[in-house]
This record gives sequence, C-alpha cells and structure tokens, in this order.
Amino acid sequence: MDSIIALCKRRGFIFQSSEIYGGYNGFFDFGPLGVELKKNLKEAWWKDMVHCRDDIEGLDSSIIMSPKIWVASGHVGGFSDPMVDCKTSKMRYRADQLFFAPVIVDGNTIGYVSVLEDSSMQAVAEETADKMKRKQGVQGTLAPIELKDYTEADPSEYELIPSPATGEPGSLTPPRDFNLMFETKVGALSDSTATAYLRPETAQGIFANYKNIVDTGRVKIPFGIAQVGKAFRNEITPRNFIFRSREFEQMEMEYFISPEADWQGCHREWIDWCKDWLVSVGLPADMLGEDVHPLEKLSHYSRGTTDITFKFPFGEQELWGIACRGNFDLTQHQEHSGKSMEIFDQESKSKFIPHVVEPALGVDRLLLAVLTAAYTEDEIGGEKRTLMKFHPRVAPYKVAVFPLLKNKPELMEKAQDLYKKLQRKYNVFWDTAGAIGRRYRRMDEIGTPWCVTVDFDTLEDGTFTLRDRDTTEQKRINEEELLAMLDAQLY
Ligand code: ATP
Repeated sequence: MDSIIALCKRRGFIFQSSEIYGGYNGFFDFGPLGVELKKNLKEAWWKDMVHCRDDIEGLDSSIIMSPKIWVASGHVGGFSDPMVDCKTSKMRYRADQLFFAPVIVDGNTIGYVSVLEDSSMQAVAEETADKMKRKQGVQGTLAPIELKDYTEADPSEYELIPSPATGEPGSLTPPRDFNLMFETKVGALSDSTATAYLRPETAQGIFANYKNIVDTGRVKIPFGIAQVGKAFRNEITPRNFIFRSREFEQMEMEYFISPEADWQGCHREWIDWCKDWLVSVGLPADMLGEDVHPLEKLSHYSRGTTDITFKFPFGEQELWGIACRGNFDLTQHQEHSGKSMEIFDQESKSKFIPHVVEPALGVDRLLLAVLTAAYTEDEIGGEKRTLMKFHPRVAPYKVAVFPLLKNKPELMEKAQDLYKKLQRKYNVFWDTAGAIGRRYRRMDEIGTPWCVTVDFDTLEDGTFTLRDRDTTEQKRINEEELLAMLDAQLY
C-alpha cells in the first residue's frame, strides 16, 4: 500500500486534499494522471452499462435535492454509523470497527483487550492478552480470545474496555448513532427549514426521476437508469487512502423489474455481469470474491445483498454492492410525495410499482483496486523496474511517441506528425528528454501500454519501433499497422 501511495504522489495520480495547509482528512485530489484514469473508468462503465445496452438509460441529477427525498428514503432517520469517543485522547472510532475481548485465565477475567478492525487484529489481540497475563504474573491457561465489536458490548463492559488510543480502560463512551449526511443551508434564511443535505448516494436521484423517465415513454419493464456522480458521507474514520473517503464518486444503476419476476435470478445475472466487467477493465478474476450478506444483517430496504469483494493490500473488502431493494424506495416516494410510482406493463397488461436490483460501485474504490492490480515490480536486464500494468482501455496514456534524437529535425518532424495524428483519437505522451531506455521506464511507471520511437529506419522505410510495456518486446511496425493495432486494442 505504501508503494502505491508513494507512486500516486510521485507521478501525479492522487494528492492529499489541501496539502499545503497540512491536508484535510477524508478528501483527495486527482492529479493529471489520476483524472485520466478515473475518466477512463467512468467512460468504460458508461459505454458498457448505458450505450451498449438497449434496456438502460442515463441520468445526471442534482447533488442537492429536496430534503424531503432524504426523509422518504430513510436517510434522515437512519443513515448513521455507531460512533464511540475516547474522552481522554478525543479520538473517535466507528463502534463496529472497534473490537474487544475479555482476557480470561482459568475462568477469571483479568482485563480486556481492544483492537481496531484489521486483517491482523486477532493476532494482535492474542499477543496483547498474553502480555497482560505475564505482566500481572498470573499463572494458568489463557482462554481463546473471542473478539466482538463494541456495538455488542454489554453496558457494564464500556468502563472496562481499554481505549485503542491510550491502552487504558475508563475513557470510552457508550456507542451512539452518528448521521453520515453532510448538512448545508439553502437560501438566504438560515433557520431549520433551510437545512439540506449533500447526497450520500446517487441512487435517490434515480428514484426521484423515475417517473419523469417512465413518462417520457422510452422505457418498458425491465429497464435500468444509470448515473455517475459525486456522493458525500461524513465518515467517522475515513481510512485506507481513497478506499473510504468523505467525498467520492459512485456509479449506480437501478434495474426495474416486475414484482412477479425472478428477482433472485436477476440478482445473479447482475453479479455475473459486474464481475465480468471488472475483469474487462483489468482486475484479475482471482482477486475478486463474493460476500453474501446474511439475512439478519441486511439493510432495512434490502431483500438480498451480495458484495463483490476485492483483495486490497489491507484485506479483502467490498468493492461493488449488488442489492435487491424490492419496491422500498418507490413505495416510500409514492407515500411521501403523493405521486403514483406505478408503471403500466404492456406485456402483462397490469399496473404495479416495480422492484429493483441495484449494482452500486464506488469510482474511487474501483480506482484503488485497479492501481493495486496494476502495480508490479520486476527486473529487466538486471535492472529493477516498477510498472503499472493497466488495461489499455483505462491507461491514462495509450501510447507515447519519441523521436530517437531531439537534435535531428527530420526525426522531430516525423515524430510530431505521428504524435499529432494519434492525438486526435487518443491521449498520447510526447517525450524527447534523455536516453530512450529512460523514456521507456518513465512510461512503464505510469502504465502507458505502448511506446513508438521514430528512428533513422523510419526515414528510410516509414516503419517505427513499437515497444510493449509488459513484455518490453520491440518490433517494427508501419503507420497503418499501428493505427489498426490501437483501434483493435482500444475498443
Ligand atoms: P461500506 O460498508 O464500505 O461503508 P456501504 O455498504 O455503505 O459501504 P454502499 O452504500 O452500498 O456502501 O455504496 C455503494 C458503493 O459506494 C460501495 O460499494 C463503495 O464502492 C462505494 N462507497 C461507499 N462509501 C464509500 C466511501 N466512504 N468512500 C469511497 N467509496 C465508498
């Protein structure tokens, strides 16, 4: 993870927001390469989800909407995470990410251990328990450490569980709900009627516009509405770089189906579609997994949720949530707005409020997954190199053009010609500085799949040297072949 973060900063993918003022926790800025990578991911999703499917329409709704929407959707009442404070250190934790266990020796509790959620938390807790036993000079057998999260603690335990910040018990508060929506004021009056929210998900903009789209008559059941845009959550503990931030982007699609339809089958189809799509932008299938939410842990609106997980450097975590939301949202909006959310289905000649299957993906989380999968270190001719093996479809630059020598006008002219021609279709990198090998390495590190060098042979026979990022193989290719190759690879 540290290598990825360092490369992101060094090469201009991602910066900490407001860095010159010491940073701003939970916010990030995307530099020249990051913005390209992000744009390519969003474009690939839009192309495959909206353009290449006849049953899905696009939408771009406003970020701030009537606060009534968030009351109807349940976000004002219940979009919260359990929070716990340490009164001594003033640190704040998500209670469901703070784990604890009693340390029991021969049936007697000699203290408590606490750890923050992490792939190594069990080992850390066991080690701490062992240290506690030795420090107290207690003889006997240590019972297995069974970690539970702080929301499961008995109120009598709050005083006994040590704060992860100080290691001492007595400073943690009971857990309480913290609403994750950012509030703002709209209009000149700043009383409570002016309170509005930055959207915490793009989905509600889709539900709020569902009627408009149905009424324009372009859709029939089953159909989907897709949207890409910013979402904001005042996360208690933003962490793991861009994995959990306070401002992020989502790509969400609501797929409306008949209440009679086989929703489980439809759910499965979308899980498979999403997994295939992730592979198509360069995530290896063996880094993906599925996490089926147990019935008792489902969100209030969900009848079934499966997360597609990814093996991030800090553990396997949710990347894409695919939820069956039933008709919860539309029914809520019908009740709160007084407007009918029914659709007339020509095929069954019946009227109903459709049910939905929702694949919801975070752009930033996807970007982190793509960076993780692409990051590679290898050795070429005894020299270590770092390369980003981006899928050509999402690589920030598709190709680089180099004149072999910058002090040879004939080479410069030919190279500029090719550069200008390619630039009309692709994002192309131009570099004249330093030895050609150094220029190749610089492109490897930012994941440019191909480099084209204009050399003296070019002046003779019109061919260029084409160098492949992953294999480092070089071959001669003419302009026509080059254009055809790029066209085929960058569909
Ligand atoms: P988590 O359990 O990680 O908080 P969630 O289940 O609340 O996520 P959803 O509401 O289902 O997430 O949001 C859909 C997708 O949006 C997630 O799968 C994730 O990719 C992305 N996402 C959610 N919260 C964040 C965040 N704070 N930062 C970046 N991406 C996020």
